[in-house]
Amino acid sequence: MAFIKINRANFFHNLTEFSLKTSSKESIGIVLKDNAYGHGLELMAQLSKEFGLVQAVVRTTKEARIVEPYFQQILILGDRAIAEENFSYALNSLEDIKQADEASLVELKIDTGMHRNGISIDELEKALLLIKEKNLLLVGIMTHNRSADVLSSELFWQQKQFEKVQKQVAMSMSDNTSSQHIRFHSFNSASSLRLSCENQEFIRLGIGAYGYSELPNIYEVLDLKPVLSLWAKKISTRNLKKGERVGYGGAYIAPRDMIVSTYNLGYGDGWMRSNHVNTFITAEGLPILGRVSMDYIILESTQDEICIFDNALEAGQQLGTISYEVMTLLSGDIMRY
Ligand SMILES: *Cc1c(COP(=O)(O)O)cnc(C)c1O
Repeated sequence: MAFIKINRANFFHNLTEFSLKTSSKESIGIVLKDNAYGHGLELMAQLSKEFGLVQAVVRTTKEARIVEPYFQQILILGDRAIAEENFSYALNSLEDIKQADEASLVELKIDTGMHRNGISIDELEKALLLIKEKNLLLVGIMTHNRSADVLSSELFWQQKQFEKVQKQVAMSMSDNTSSQHIRFHSFNSASSLRLSCENQEFIRLGIGAYGYSELPNIYEVLDLKPVLSLWAKKISTRNLKKGERVGYGGAYIAPRDMIVSTYNLGYGDGWMRSNHVNTFITAEGLPILGRVSMDYIILESTQDEICIFDNALEAGQQLGTISYEVMTLLSGDIMRY
């Protein structure tokens, strides 16, 4: 099978860059959802702890249980809230509040404009009341920005909306006897890159930690370094005569006599099959010849190991998608080290 190399020095470098912006490691929540953006959930949890991070963000309770030994606090974005000392749950709807277990730690998600998840601002009072009635422990109010990585002022408009929410919450909680601290957070990687993080109690850092910014170049972006590279191993080598065809459909026709090898990566490993639309060029400049099979690709090389990509942003541009998708598609069964 193909394999993935994780560059620890680059991961620590990226985390250092962001921790200089936040001025504390404690306020960074490393986002480890979806197998840590394809990097390997447990490995990245371990490295995050080694760096000194104490908070993580995942999608499910199942993921949280796996990384529990490495963190003090874990925010779970998309699962039913259960009462667990170190877990807090994002509540995406009134329905989520109703289904939450009593005494669970919760963070209310407010829809400030993305219209994907969260309670509308109009429902805020109702939600706060319901949380109180259900005896949930409100520890956070959060929102998600829809356009932080787009060249527009929308991010600022949404931040203003969130400020309104903060004021409203402060007002309705002022007569509350419980003195539970509530944190407010809205920053993902792109927001953290564009705005000052100094006053942020908590940021939810995903793609930036893995080395990418999908922001247009106009923004002064930190010097981030890719953490993941994808490699394939040689299975066999053969000689092709001019005119012989390669792979399914014989889509590639040898323009001359050449030596090609089969490598152990395919769409079954999560590598996109779009080669027939746009020929993919590997990190070392080798075009993938013909169609991508379920478990194999063919390249004009005899090297034992080939680096398929070491920059998911560039790979995504070739494949017509974003860095996030290229990485999260990579099968969890691929060995990572
Ligand atoms: C995935 C996610 C993030 C991280 O976003 P990046 O762009 O990868 O930094 C932050 N917050 C929420 C709610 C998310 O779902």
